[in-house]
Amino acid sequence: EYNGKWAAVDDYLVSHLVESDPVLEQVLKNNHQAGLPAHDVAPNQGKLLALLAQITGAQKVLEIGTLGAYSTLWLARALPALGKVVTLEADPHHARVAKTNIELAGLQDKITLHVGPAAQTLPGLQAEAPFDLIFIDADKPGNPLYLEWALKLSKPGTLIIGDNVVREGAVVDPHSDDARVQGVRRFIEMIEQEPRLSATALQTVGSKGWDGFVLARVTG
Ligand code: SAM
Repeated sequence: EYNGKWAAVDDYLVSHLVESDPVLEQVLKNNHQAGLPAHDVAPNQGKLLALLAQITGAQKVLEIGTLGAYSTLWLARALPALGKVVTLEADPHHARVAKTNIELAGLQDKITLHVGPAAQTLPGLQAEAPFDLIFIDADKPGNPLYLEWALKLSKPGTLIIGDNVVREGAVVDPHSDDARVQGVRRFIEMIEQEPRLSATALQTVGSKGWDGFVLARVTG
């Protein structure tokens, strides 16, 4: 079991490369105190999201799955002054905590939080499209639908990121009875079949265990 070492390496890397930030640290504390599941991205993953937003020159970001807005805040902070993040959260309690955290960070002008199942809120975003970066991180059985919407709300050059696609290796089991695994497998196979996407995926280990993410670029 390498988990202890994975977390120790994350701590080492984060201590050297990811600036410590009292607001983001307070956000994680608030999420814990409010009873939210610890499903936020790790700090080095948050920094990766921020770097990807900056590398792609993103101005408009869509996030599906807010939780307590930890990843939302990483993304919002990475954007230029007029940049915007639209984030979607189904759970009203998570959304309340997220709203408090967004206000704590003073980023309420940059972030719009829509409360409700993403399947219901995504169709209302067409006027704000296209988005430059789309982070899919909600319920995994929803991933196939979220990919369809991501394509509708994108333009050539949009970067689509899908989190938690390895699931401690469970993704390789075609007979899995876990709807999350089946959602992720369908998501990956849809990306494979989609001529408008060029994609890869990486496995990750660290403080969040063994998982991974997909990066897909809309090419046309
Ligand atoms: N992106 C967050 C972060 O890194 O800080 C973590 C998001 S957490 C993995 C997934 C979130 O998606 C949960 O807060 C959950 O309530 C939300 N969710 C679940 N089903 C959803 C749905 N149908 N529509 C929108 N959000 C949903």
